[in-house]
Amino acid sequence: MTLSVYPIPAFNDNYIWAIHDGTQCVVVDPGDAAPVRDFLQQHSLGLSTILITHHHPDHTGGLKALLTDYDAEAFGPQGDHIAGIQHPLGENDEIVVLGSLRMRVLEVPGHTLDHIAFYAAPTPTTPDAATAQPMLFCGDTLFAAGCGRIFEGNAEMMYQSLQKLARLPKDTLIYCAHEYTLNNLRFAAMAEPGNNAITERVKNESAKRQRDEPTLPSNIDLELRTNPFLRCHIESLGNHLAANNKLSVSHSDQQVFAALRNWKDSV
Ligand SMILES: [Zn+2]
Repeated sequence: MTLSVYPIPAFNDNYIWAIHDGTQCVVVDPGDAAPVRDFLQQHSLGLSTILITHHHPDHTGGLKALLTDYDAEAFGPQGDHIAGIQHPLGENDEIVVLGSLRMRVLEVPGHTLDHIAFYAAPTPTTPDAATAQPMLFCGDTLFAAGCGRIFEGNAEMMYQSLQKLARLPKDTLIYCAHEYTLNNLRFAAMAEPGNNAITERVKNESAKRQRDEPTLPSNIDLELRTNPFLRCHIESLGNHLAANNKLSVSHSDQQVFAALRNWKDSV
C-alpha cells in the first residue's frame, strides 16, 4: 500500500488533509464539503473515513454533507456535541484507517477543551514511503512556528498539550490545519531575535509561499529549533521576555509560555 498525503485548501488559509491509497481516502477536518468532493472526483477516490480534531466550524462544517454523499465513517472527540461523529475517541484510543494505517489518539486540550490529535507511527505492516515517517494531524494545537489561541482551556493546559507533542519522535511530520507559518515566524523572530534557525526558516518558508506551495508538513525537529512555544525552557528566550517587561525575572517554563501566548495575542 502506497499512501499519499495532500493539502486540500479551504476558506482563506485552512488545509483539509487528505490521505489516500489510490482507491480510498481519509480526510481530516473537512470544514467545507465542496473542495473535498472536487478532490475525490479529480482523483477518482472513495471517502472511507473522516477524522475531526475539534468542534470549530472551519473544521467540521462539511461533515454532515460528506456523510450524506459518501459511505464514510466519522471519528472525533467525545461529548456528543459534534453532530455526525459515530466513533468518539479519547486518549490512547487506536484506530486503523485505509486497511493498515494505525493511528493513536492524543488528547491535547487548550485551543478547545475537546481537541484531539491523530498520531500515525510507522509499523512493519505499512513499510511504504508515506508512512516511513510518523505523521501527526494536530488541527489547531501545534502550528508551524506557533500554536493555536487558547479559547476554552488555559495556558497550563495548552503548555502541557504542546509538551506532549514535543516529546514525539523528532522526524514526526506535522500536518496542522492552517497556513499561518510566515505570520508565526515574524513573531518567533521578535521573541527570539538571536535565533539563526528562525532567520534561516523565514527564508525557506517565504520562498515556498512565493512559489504558492504550502509550508507544511513541518516536523518536530524543526519546531524544537524554531517554534518559541516549544522553546520555553531556553534561558535566553525567558530573559528576552523579562527584559521587555512581558515576564518577571524569576519565572517557570510555563510562565514563559503564558507570556509568549499573551504577547502573540496582542501583536
Ligand atoms: Zn479551531
